[in-house]
Amino acid sequence: MNSRILSIDDSPTMRMLIRKALKEDEYEIIEAENGQEGLDLAQHEEFSLIFVDVNMPIMDGFSCVEGIRAMSQNRETPIVFLTTVNSKDKMEKGKTLGANGWIVKPFEPEPLRKLVKVMIKK
Ligand SMILES: [Mg+2]
Repeated sequence: MNSRILSIDDSPTMRMLIRKALKEDEYEIIEAENGQEGLDLAQHEEFSLIFVDVNMPIMDGFSCVEGIRAMSQNRETPIVFLTTVNSKDKMEKGKTLGANGWIVKPFEPEPLRKLVKVMIKK
């Protein structure tokens, strides 16, 4: 079975760019438009990796990650922030909440592919 990636971002363009960057690697990519949708998906489905934006309507990425980490089935799931936010304080906050990485947009496709390969232990 292909590894499943959850991509949480309110920007359709950004979700498309993530899909495009990873399209040759045959992951199954499931998308959510905000933190609440992402949280609901993480509650009911299993993912090998989760990408999450910071600024989103309804629920932001921090609350989303906090909620996901509180689920026993997602204590170890790799979570990477993918965001325009570039402040040290926010990155520190993300780390404290349990994120495994922080990528600042815009991203290059190749490093993203490599990062996913490293994070997903097949
Ligand atoms: Mg956003």
